[in-house]
Amino acid sequence: MCSGQSYYELSEAMTKKFNKKCTKTRHYFFLNPYKDCAFTKCPKCEHSTKIRKFPLIIHVDPHQIILLNKKCRYCVNCDLIIAKQSEVESLMIICLEKVNPDVIGNDYLAVGVVDRKDWKEGNNGKLDSSETLDRMYFFKDVLKFELIPGGWYPEAKDKQRKPVL
Ligand SMILES: [Zn+2]
Repeated sequence: MCSGQSYYELSEAMTKKFNKKCTKTRHYFFLNPYKDCAFTKCPKCEHSTKIRKFPLIIHVDPHQIILLNKKCRYCVNCDLIIAKQSEVESLMIICLEKVNPDVIGNDYLAVGVVDRKDWKEGNNGKLDSSETLDRMYFFKDVLKFELIPGGWYPEAKDKQRKPVL
């Protein structure tokens, strides 16, 4: 059931590399906690977002790294990747059940991406895990956006949140 996903145990050496300040950065990231909001419009600039797949690198406490090739919303203007938290967690569970069920439910953090090219090579077994992590890009920043109930909608008396996005 882990098709399309990869996982790596973090060796001590990798952990060191991982903790080292990395100069390669790319994209901003937002983990969307709202199940009923797809963010078809960017929460920053309000332009339409596109659907694009990103090979996301997720670090799960204490020492597990997984790669999720995940369909995300992406704003070209802001260089912002928006991934639905519920979908990310479902994929993580599918992957972790196979490789490391003990860490399911632990804290996790989306830390970056790899190039699609590298993802494909890694997937075909041409790259080993350390090479893939060598080529990874950390996110420039992880952002948070909050829906303000009522703030976006004229019918403020209606307490039920009805996202327009
Ligand atoms: Zn934007």
